[in-house]
Order: sequence, then structure tokens, then C-alpha cells
Amino acid sequence: MSDLTPIAQLGEFGLIGRLQQHIALTQPSTRLGIGDDAAIIAPLPDHDLVISTDMLVEGVHFDLSFSPLRHLGYKAVAVNVSDIAAMLALPTQLVVALSLPARFTVEAVEELYAGMRLACEAYGVDLVGGDTTASRGGLVISLTVLGQVPTGQAVRRGGGRPTDILCVSGDLGAAYLGLQVLEREKQAFLADPDTQPELDNYDYVVRRQLRPEARLDLVHELRELGARPTSMIDISDGLASEVLHLCAASGTGARVFSEFLPLANPTLEAAAEFSLDPVMCALNGGEDYELLFTLPVADHAKIKNHPDITVIGHLTDAADSVNLILKSGQAVPLRAQGWGHF
Ligand code: ADP
Ligand code: MG
Repeated sequence: MSDLTPIAQLGEFGLIGRLQQHIALTQPSTRLGIGDDAAIIAPLPDHDLVISTDMLVEGVHFDLSFSPLRHLGYKAVAVNVSDIAAMLALPTQLVVALSLPARFTVEAVEELYAGMRLACEAYGVDLVGGDTTASRGGLVISLTVLGQVPTGQAVRRGGGRPTDILCVSGDLGAAYLGLQVLEREKQAFLADPDTQPELDNYDYVVRRQLRPEARLDLVHELRELGARPTSMIDISDGLASEVLHLCAASGTGARVFSEFLPLANPTLEAAAEFSLDPVMCALNGGEDYELLFTLPVADHAKIKNHPDITVIGHLTDAADSVNLILKSGQAVPLRAQGWGHF
């Protein structure tokens, strides 16, 4: 492995210089990127700034034995951008703080950045700065994304009203099943390093776990359709947990119909193989990074033919009563299991 460069050989400044080489700035609001003591942003006139931070810790949020660094870089940006999208805002700038274990090489960090750059291009975000330190433990990636939204137009969690319809984008539960597949292959590999990973039939669910997308496309489409969500949240911890957050903030109850939950065929197949209930995967799996939002009933016509938006239920005035309605008609209280990293 003599073609790999220890970070110590370049030093912190050498490394930053290397990473900086490929970074392009495209946002009109970016006045100054990497290289000074701070970046300079000139917010668009008549816009609010939105800002969000996410930290990813090795061993807690990701496992480098099955997360390729390029995907990890992409995912780190996507999950941050997802939070900005969930405000109905558009992301503009990003800063990245890295804590790097000594075993990391310059080439490894470049892989991570290649993934982050791809995501920055996909979402139109400028990487304008960061910080780099050594880590005595695992890899830590902390990202802060800035976004902008026309003044007063950001969509919060608390604006939902009784009778509003509850909508989700895309499909749910796949990322959790992707994680089950990857964990299984890891165990098989640890037991017998000669086994070949069997991932071929699990393309979709594995991709949803390793390389999720932020639904920025929906932000544009909802604006174009003139459908203005009354409340919105991104689905990072599982649908159940997010519905509860949204209802708590809005002071409403909700009815979610289990038979309406969008489940992709590969999700149903993987769930069957793992003897898991796909509805439970959708409710509690997490990491789907789809959007959950409410619309006034009057806006239903605007979204009802959208191929990637599903109405899964509605809000009610019975605060504290957030129920899953089973196919039988029976109502069971929704509970959040979330991720439980602690
Ligand atoms: P300071 O000592 O003022 O904090 P640094 O040496 O940490 O400066 O950073 C120098 C420049 O490089 C700054 O513009 C900073 O934003 C940028 N930078 C540092 N680390 C990273 C990183 N991991 N990714 C992107 N930019 C970085
Ligand atoms: Mg610094």
C-alpha cells in the first residue's frame, strides 16, 4: 500500500490545499469560500437564512466496514440538505468539520470529499469552509448547511391543522432493510472472510441505506404546483417518530392508514426474507430521508396525480391521539421507537 499518503506527510494545510483544488463555487450569494479566516455570504434580498447542523460519528451513525467513503461523503451532505428541504428552503452553502483518525490517508479523505463534492453539485451547494483536526477515536464528520427561503416562507413543524391531509414523498422502510442486509453480510464475512458478499438482489435497499437523496426536487415541485405545506419534517428516525413530532408541534392528533404507506417492491421482498413486517420497517426503521408534510384539504387536487407523493392519512383535533389505522379498521396508538443510538 505504498501509494497511499499518510496525512502527516502533507500536514493539515497541505491536506486542506489538496481538498480545495476541486471545489467550485456556483451560488451567487457566496462572496468568499475556503482560504480565509471565515467565508463571506451575501444573503439574497428578501430572504431568510436557514441553518442546520448534523454530526456523523463512526460506530454510532456509520460503519466503515461497509460504508464506502465516497457514499459516506455523499450521505453526510444529503442528510443535512434534507433538513433544509424540510423547511421548504434551498441549500446554498456548506461547512465541514472533520476529525480524522491517524489511520486515515490523504487518499481516504479525498474519497470522502469526492462524495461530498458530488452531492454539492447535485444539490447546488457551495463548500465554503471547515475545520480539520486529528481524532484519537473514530472518524467524526460534522456538517453545517446554510439555506435560503423567501422571507417568512419557511415551513415549520407546527403549522398543521385538523383535517389537513398527511403526505409523504417516495417510499419508506428501504434504508432500514438495506442496513439489515449489510449487517448480515458483515457477520458472514467476519465468520468466514472467504465468503463473497451477496448484495445483487438488494441493490435498491442497500442504495437507500448507503446513498440516500435529499428530496430537494419536491421543494421545487411543491412550489411549482402552488401547494404550500402547512407543516413539514424530514423522515430521519422513522415515520412514527416524525408524525408524533409534527403532531406535538401542531397541537393536533392524526390518523395514519397502514394500507396507504408507500412500500417499494424490493422493500417488501427484503422484509419477507428477514421475516420483518414491512409496515414496522416503514414506521420505525428510519434513514429514509423522505419528506412528511401536511396540506389543506383544498390542495389535495394539486398533488393527487403526483407519482411520488402519497396521502397516508390526516390530522385530527384530538391532540394526544395519534393512531395507526389497521386494515381491519382497528386503531392502535403510534409509538416512536426511533434509532436509540444512546
Ligand atoms: P483557522 O486556523 O483560521 O481555523 P484553518 O487552518 O482551520 O483556519 O482553515 C483554513 C481554511 O481552510 C479556512 O478557510 C477553513 O474554512 C478551511 N478548511 C479547514 N478545514 C477544512 C475542511 N475540512 N474542509 C473545507 N475547508 C476547510
Ligand atoms: Mg480552523
